[in-house]
Amino acid sequence: MTDSSQITSSYPKKHLLAASGVLAALCLSLLIFPSAQVEAKRTTLPFGLEESSLSILDKLTENDALETEEVTTAAAPSPSQTEPAPPAKPTTLNLKAQKGDTLSTLFQRAGLSSNTLHQVLDSDPSARTRLTSIQLGQSFDFHLDEQGDLKSLHTRLSSLESIEVLRSGDTFQINHEKAAPTLREAYARGIITSSLAAAVSKASMPTSITHALAKAFEYDIDFGRNIRKGDEFEVIYEQKVVNGKVVGHGNILAARFTNSGKTYSVVRYSTSNGSSQYYNADGSSNRKAFNRNPIDSARISSRFNPNRRHPVLNKIRAHNGVDYAAPTGTPIKATGNGRVVLAGRKGGYGNTVIIQHGKSYRTLYAHMKGFAKGIRTGQQVKQGQVIGYVGSTGLSTGPHLHYEFQENGRHIDPMSKNLPVTETLSGKERQRFLKHTQPLLARMDRERSSMLAMNKR
Ligand SMILES: [Zn+2]
Repeated sequence: MTDSSQITSSYPKKHLLAASGVLAALCLSLLIFPSAQVEAKRTTLPFGLEESSLSILDKLTENDALETEEVTTAAAPSPSQTEPAPPAKPTTLNLKAQKGDTLSTLFQRAGLSSNTLHQVLDSDPSARTRLTSIQLGQSFDFHLDEQGDLKSLHTRLSSLESIEVLRSGDTFQINHEKAAPTLREAYARGIITSSLAAAVSKASMPTSITHALAKAFEYDIDFGRNIRKGDEFEVIYEQKVVNGKVVGHGNILAARFTNSGKTYSVVRYSTSNGSSQYYNADGSSNRKAFNRNPIDSARISSRFNPNRRHPVLNKIRAHNGVDYAAPTGTPIKATGNGRVVLAGRKGGYGNTVIIQHGKSYRTLYAHMKGFAKGIRTGQQVKQGQVIGYVGSTGLSTGPHLHYEFQENGRHIDPMSKNLPVTETLSGKERQRFLKHTQPLLARMDRERSSMLAMNKR
């Protein structure tokens, strides 16, 4: 960009003084004269300028002359020059906010009065907050009319957001423009060498995807403890694009994560009634939901009841779960995917398994005769996996399973309607699901094999 101070410094000193003298006089007259007179005065200005410019231009090369012309018509004076050059015809001034600039100094640089500034700021309740916090380098396009009055002002707050101030009589109208980004699908693959965040950033994905990825697999993988070197992930996610430029990201549409040699897949799907969730790749079940019952077809012998008289203690004691009467040895199944946080004895509960599901949920299974093979604290379990067998250990009157469900540490009735219960896609919905999600999974396969082929070379 042309810097007027650099150009003027190459002028002979005498001319420089003459030129700035003219400028100063012009500006002074603008400040002093009331608008009607200024109008008259301004129409005569270009001639004066042309005259004095000509005498300077005589001694300049053609190239310099061109640049000088830009200075006198369009370019903003540098901040070292205190007096702005008045525009002589409808013009656009593009000013970039520099250190120390305020809306007020920018208006001054555009040759606009503080009166105009206040008209703009008072025009709309939102104007002050939207216009006065200025970023370094923020660009302002001032469109001025023949009289040098503000016609409109346009400034960009981000690649998505801009503000337009339009004159409407004696006041101004503020238009807040937010560009709607278009979405495109992007593929990325990463291998963990130190942390998930590092691998995400190495795969040129936005770091905020890390959180979304952990969320999508929260019921399968313990991202806090069980991420291993060599774990691998693939993601198809939405990129937000404005004018060919990536400005952000949307949802993860499909992802695969191989954790300690075990591969998990999720796909995002919006059902025909509009709810969006992650599903298993086969669409059979929603991972973020629970099976209603930990035992198949068992009779409920005691319901959730905050004021129950305890059958053994004979005292009023909240019954924080549901009891299932079943013969000793009946298999008990985990109602959701999660991590075993306890498999052992727990006071009156006897042999107990507690499973943590994602961040918010816990399930508890008590009075077990024994634990299923491989069920230990710290172990990852799948929905429907057998974790133990019905018994009567702890404070119990006979063989039954006592089952509790907690959300954020609060007991809730496992039979309540609010429980996130498994919804299996079937029939037409399942057909629709497969039609939407299979191309995503196929793309992951394609991208992965072409990436691996490239790495081999
Ligand atoms: Zn119970």
